[in-house]
Amino acid sequence: MSRLFNFSAGPATLPEAVLKQVQAEMLDWNGTGMSVMEMSHRDKPFMSIAQAAEKDLRELLNIPANYKVLFLQGGATAQFTYIPMNLLGSKTGADYIVTGDWGKKAAKEAAKYLKVNIAATSEADKFTKVPDRATWKLDPNAAYVHYTPNETIHGVEFADIPETNGVPLVADFSSTILSRPIDVSKFGLIYAGAQKNIGPSGLTIVIVREDLIGHAQALTPGIFDYKQMAENESMLNTPPCFGWYVAGLVFKYLLAQGGLKAVAERNERKAKALYDYIDSEPFYSNPVAKADRSWMNVPFVLKNAELDADFLKGAVAAKLSGLKGHRAVGGMRASIYNAMSEEGVQALITYMKEFAKAHG
Ligand SMILES: *Cc1c(COP(=O)(O)O)cnc(C)c1O
Repeated sequence: MSRLFNFSAGPATLPEAVLKQVQAEMLDWNGTGMSVMEMSHRDKPFMSIAQAAEKDLRELLNIPANYKVLFLQGGATAQFTYIPMNLLGSKTGADYIVTGDWGKKAAKEAAKYLKVNIAATSEADKFTKVPDRATWKLDPNAAYVHYTPNETIHGVEFADIPETNGVPLVADFSSTILSRPIDVSKFGLIYAGAQKNIGPSGLTIVIVREDLIGHAQALTPGIFDYKQMAENESMLNTPPCFGWYVAGLVFKYLLAQGGLKAVAERNERKAKALYDYIDSEPFYSNPVAKADRSWMNVPFVLKNAELDADFLKGAVAAKLSGLKGHRAVGGMRASIYNAMSEEGVQALITYMKEFAKAHG
């Protein structure tokens, strides 16, 4: 079977060139006579893979020297817990800006460890926008402000970085990291599960400002403590070696593509093509405020939900997979991460046109 255009929200499509390289190196990585899956993480070959991946990620995101980069396990969901345990320090609470289900989950988990202040939420608007800045109630004494730059389920993305007046900004970048350049120095902590824009699931990247580590609550387990993980180069225990290796190949691939500026230009073109088509065709609609629409996850509904099953069936026949929307929102969702080609987006638009013509 030939490869499909895979619009899955995560785990998601990866660059074909990277998959082919993994395949070529599977049995014998670089003359070592073994697969990366089989090597000791403490020996030189894996250490060189690990260090190259960090170096390339630092170059891609232009990460300042006073930030640690950690390669962890547990997914973004584990960070919902790590963050309050590590960052509360001597404060009592933290602010959460909630623009979708992931931010809501992060706040719920954090509430077990500290006082959560929902500084802003667009839940009353069914998470179709970023709440108006004038309505935010940020607490100047908060340990940190948490937000979700891109809400994967609702397709809501912040166009710029919130101002928090010196309170550390913590961001769940799972579904938008590496989609465009960002100014890392504006953040206290950035985290992302790998399976959207980086590589296989099982790897979680944390980029954290040095002064924010070393204040973990006494009960924090060692492997949840950023300081211990940083001191041990993310190898306090066995790291997610294979995911780390594949992520490193993706970083090299993105650098070879021209870095994040070039990646962003392509992502913007892809998103614009799809939204422009949806907006031009009354058969489809996307409910998100235009300024807050995601470049990565594009939910849309058909005029008649009874046609959903037919739409999905025809899509697979047209080699388009993973388009079923999240159950919380319904309809469809096209996830068009970095590794989705412009050709794939055009194939989706062509199919949508044909379907609308046949059923409109
Ligand atoms: C996918 C996703 C998560 C959950 O990630 P896991 O790695 O499965 O824990 C959390 N936040 C956002 C924004 C996501 O897209």
